[in-house]
Amino acid sequence: MVETGKATGPKKPQRFLGVTFIKEELCKGCAFCIEFCPTDALETSTQFNAKGYHYPILAREEDCNGCDLCGLYCPDFAIFGVRWNNPDYKGRQANEGKEDK
Ligand code: SF4
Ligand code: SF4
Repeated sequence: MVETGKATGPKKPQRFLGVTFIKEELCKGCAFCIEFCPTDALETSTQFNAKGYHYPILAREEDCNGCDLCGLYCPDFAIFGVRWNNPDYKGRQANEGKEDK
């Protein structure tokens, strides 16, 4: 078994939710996006694109927070992330901008 160093157990709701958009045909399979994703949400597809490269897939949608680091590191503009506020997040920042009653 591979030790990932990640904590196990129920996850707290994260502040942001996100999704990535992948233009498979632009990808050259360098895997920068997978290596630098801070939440380990991406994996290499077993499929090839038309150029013969394995492109990334969003393997763990629930872990993506839309930070767009994958997009910043991609040299070919083949991937980008989008984020939005998680309505279930109850942290301190969730109340920013709201007036006390
Ligand atoms: S947007 Fe951020 S969290 Fe989502 S896959 Fe890209 S690097 Fe990972
Ligand atoms: S960083 Fe861009 S080119 Fe490299 S594997 Fe990811 S999507 Fe493909």
